[in-house]
Amino acid sequence: MKKQDIVIVGSGCAGLFAALQFPADKRITMITKEVIEHSDSFLAQGGICVLKTPEDYQSFFDDTLKAGHYENRKESVDIMIRSSRDTIRELIGYGVDFARAEDGTLLYTREGAHSKPRILYHEDETGKEITSRLLSQVRSARPNVQIIENTAMVDLICQGDTCRGVVIRRADGSYDTISADYTMLACGGIGGLYKHSTNYPQLTGDGLAVCMEHGVALENINYVQIHPTTLYTKKPGRSFLISESVRGEGALLYNAKGERFANELMPRDLLTEAIRAQMANDGTDFVWEDLRPIGEEEIKTHFPNIYARCLEEGYDVTKECIPVTPAQHYFMGGIHVDEESKTTMEHLYAIGETACNGVHGKNRLASNSLLESLVFAKRAALHIIEHYTPQNGPLPAVDFSAYEPAQALAARRKDAILSEIRRLNQHEHQ
Ligand SMILES: Cc1cc2nc3c(=O)[nH]c(=O)nc-3n(C[C@H](O)[C@H](O)[C@H](O)COP(=O)(O)OP(=O)(O)OC[C@H]3O[C@@H](n4cnc5c(N)ncnc54)[C@H](O)[C@@H]3O)c2cc1C
Repeated sequence: MKKQDIVIVGSGCAGLFAALQFPADKRITMITKEVIEHSDSFLAQGGICVLKTPEDYQSFFDDTLKAGHYENRKESVDIMIRSSRDTIRELIGYGVDFARAEDGTLLYTREGAHSKPRILYHEDETGKEITSRLLSQVRSARPNVQIIENTAMVDLICQGDTCRGVVIRRADGSYDTISADYTMLACGGIGGLYKHSTNYPQLTGDGLAVCMEHGVALENINYVQIHPTTLYTKKPGRSFLISESVRGEGALLYNAKGERFANELMPRDLLTEAIRAQMANDGTDFVWEDLRPIGEEEIKTHFPNIYARCLEEGYDVTKECIPVTPAQHYFMGGIHVDEESKTTMEHLYAIGETACNGVHGKNRLASNSLLESLVFAKRAALHIIEHYTPQNGPLPAVDFSAYEPAQALAARRKDAILSEIRRLNQHEHQ
């Protein structure tokens, strides 16, 4: 394929927002493993945090650090919070329709471990609203951005300590290279490596795997978040999330006897522990969640997607409790990046859930992920623009047979990532 200025791997909110920042004369190719709507960004339910008023700064900062067990990089948290209002303004400029009161002012909801409501939302499909608007903006206003679906990055092309582009595998199994001045990894989390996860199954940490193989630094890849409440079912497939914002709006958790057993607004990791302990006590695979305290009208207007999905599964949440159980949900660790989202390899950036800029510490505060992805995607793009240096000269030779058979490569990489996560966890508990 013809040389590109920038290649972006992944088409979630991070990849799309980055693409929108580049000037029209930059030739950009974005590749994505499946169809473009299949990204976790489309699944985000609860909302996106924002600095509601300048007075909320300290409380927002403290909540983020407390949830992250004070292992967060404070400078990154500061950047995220201070950039939040401009980011939301930009989203509104692209047509994102956040919930508003009748007088037009923005409405804010609350989730676990937030001491105040500071989360903007669009029903219970905030991610779909944001990401589809970004996508339509890219499609309608950025002829310089080419999107190639059903195409996977299988490797980085490295020359010494510089990234020269990526190796790709197309849907028909053929291989090619995309050389580019800059490569941005925006390939999401690692839920596809787990049996029970809320993530899309194609999110298998491919960015991590190739970085591990090329000696690009990773950070805290054992910091994996389990969401306390997903709808319990015996059916296989992606776990359906019951957003934390239902608990923020009053939903309660009960044990097998119908008694409350925990503060429903604890940080995710602590609530997950409490639920697992309760399930072990009760000898069950789930606990009960009661959405009725929210009220029928609020359930149907604020959470129509959760209401409809539970009905499909045979539960009317306005009348009865639902069984919920923890599942893998989010990845706080990732490819180590600095404040400009630059990795330890030259001309290689990482953004979104695949990157670790330290915002989330050991545990992510609810609704900080979309915001962090957008803020640091923009910083990456602006840094590339400011320091733009073209790369010329022949590419190193690539042996496509090294990526065959594809399933064996995927299995090897899965094993490498999960073994490293286990190793780090054991080390931590020694
Ligand atoms: C059910 C659910 C609810 C959530 N709710 C919220 C919420 O309310 N608020 C919040 O802030 N966060 C929420 N999150 C987290 C948030 O949605 C994600 O962290 C965020 O969207 C990540 O964006 P991203 O662009 O990094 O990755 P994604 O949106 O996951 O996109 C990754 C992209 O990379 C592609 N890709 C992967 N590997 C390759 C490869 N090898 N080659 C090519 N392409 C590749 C994928 O196909 C995909 O297009 C939620 C997540 C889930 C799963």
